Parts: sequence; C-alpha cells; structure tokens
Amino acid sequence: MSPPPIVLITGASRGIGAATARLAAARGWAVAVNYQQRRDAADALVHEIQCAGGEAMAVQGDVGDEAQVVAMYEAMDRHWGRPLAVLVNNAGVVDRPSQVADMSAARLERMFRVNVLGSFYCAREAVRRMSTARGGQGGSIVNVSSAAALLGAAHQYVDYAAAKGAVDVMTRGLAKEVAAEGIRVNAVRPGLIETEIHASGGLPDRVRELQHQVPMQRGGSADEVAEAILWLMSPASSYTTASFTEVSGGRH
Ligand code: NAP
Repeated sequence: MSPPPIVLITGASRGIGAATARLAAARGWAVAVNYQQRRDAADALVHEIQCAGGEAMAVQGDVGDEAQVVAMYEAMDRHWGRPLAVLVNNAGVVDRPSQVADMSAARLERMFRVNVLGSFYCAREAVRRMSTARGGQGGSIVNVSSAAALLGAAHQYVDYAAAKGAVDVMTRGLAKEVAAEGIRVNAVRPGLIETEIHASGGLPDRVRELQHQVPMQRGGSADEVAEAILWLMSPASSYTTASFTEVSGGRH
C-alpha cells in the first residue's frame, strides 16, 4: 500500500488551517501543521491526529521570512522522506481597522510580507519539489484568499484586501505557469468565518455585527471552508485549475 500523500497547511494551529488539517487527516492525508507562535496548539493537533491513527508533524516557521520557509521545507523533506503533494497557503493576518490615510509603513510591510510574500515563498518551495519539469510528481496548491479581495474592506483594512487581491493574481498566473508541469493552483475566498482572526484585529464581534450583510444571514464555520479546500486539494478536482471558490454565504 502506498503511503498517504503529504499536505503542508500553513497557519494550521487554529482556525481554518486547523479545521483543514483535521479534515485532511480524517480523509487519509499525512499533514504538516505549520504554526508561527502557538506551539502548544500545533502539538495538541498533531497529537489528536496521531491518536486517531493519522500521520502528522508540527513545523514552526514564519511564512513571511524566506529563510524560515526554506528551513521548514527542509525539515519536512528530512522527516517524511517523500515529496509534498499539496500546499495549502492558509497563514494570514489582519490588523486593526484603519483608514488608508492612517496606515503606517510598518503595518503595510507586515500585511504584504505575511500575506503576499509568505504565499509566494511557500508556493515557490512547493513548485520546486512538485514540478514534473524538475523531477517531481506534480501536486496541487490551494491559496486561502478572502472575499475582501472582491469587496475592498473600506474603513477596515484595504491593505489586507489588496494583499488578498495579490494572492488572487498569483493564483491565476502561477496556475497557468505550472499547469503543464503537473501542478494545479486554485483559491478559496472565505467570507465572514468564525475564527480568532477577528479578535486579533480588535473586532471580536465582527461576524455577528456584519452577518446581516450576508445573503445567507449568518457567518460561516472553519469546517465549511475546509470542505472546499479539501475538494480543491484532492484528485476529485483534477481538471480544475486557476479557479476561485467563494465560501461566503453569497457575500462577495
Ligand atoms: P486565525 O484563526 O487568526 O489563525 C491564523 C493562523 O495563521 C494561525 O495558525 C497562526 O499561527 C498563523 N500565522 C499567522 N501569522 C503567521 C506567520 N507569519 N507564519 C506562519 N503562520 C502564521 O485565522 P483564520 O481566520 O483561520 O484565517 C486563515 C486564513 O483565512 C487567513 O489567510 C485569512 O486571511 C483567511 N480568511 C479568513 C476569514 C475569516 O473570516 N476568518 C475570511 C477570509 C479569509 P499561530 O497560532 O502560531 O500564531
């Protein structure tokens, strides 16, 4: 029997990444759980997956730091000894609500470093390993964008929305660039999803306060996003690339 295919999920210590890791493990994937700070949460998730009979490892690394991303992939190469099949570019950050007129250079730098450069660094390392033109076996990349890329997030975080817009363009361009090398690249655009990201931006009640804008009149769960990611990861979506899946209850 062939060993389970490996998926690296960035930012998997909580929220959408953790839900995706749980679902992937339950469906037979070996999961690399990336985290930046919350080692306890990542270790607990790995333990949970292993206790259920699955394969998992925790890998620390700031996706916005090129050297840390390279080291993270090298650690995975050593640990698994077989190639990565899927990257889920999920790690992402928001900041406090602000007008563009008040945004500092430090804020803008972090927003684009983590959300955009982080996605590029991780995708670059994945393509180097997956590309059939480089001796790899092909694979799939799923980028976690945001409905904000379409809506613009005025008065809250236009910088975040613009960073996700860059992720969308990367999805489209990279998908076409590597389609003939056995790699599919797709994105999901979640809407208002119940996770800690809103509290990290100083708006813990954001989903409840904005859910009246959602055609379905509710926020979504991390599990609902994970289902879409799992489909895009898997061979079930084998003829789908350069695509975008809205997971937003119609708010996009
Ligand atoms: P979350 O609950 O705040 O979790 C964020 C995760 O990203 C954590 O695991 C965190 O690790 C990790 N992380 C943050 N900065 C990182 C870095 N520099 N390097 C590596 N990991 C880092 O967020 P979420 O709501 O699940 O969001 C996941 C993705 O969905 C993000 O890309 C977000 O933009 C997108 N999204 C979310 C929503 C929503 O409503 N929730 C809507 C649209 C799009 P630590 O725990 O170690 O800090």
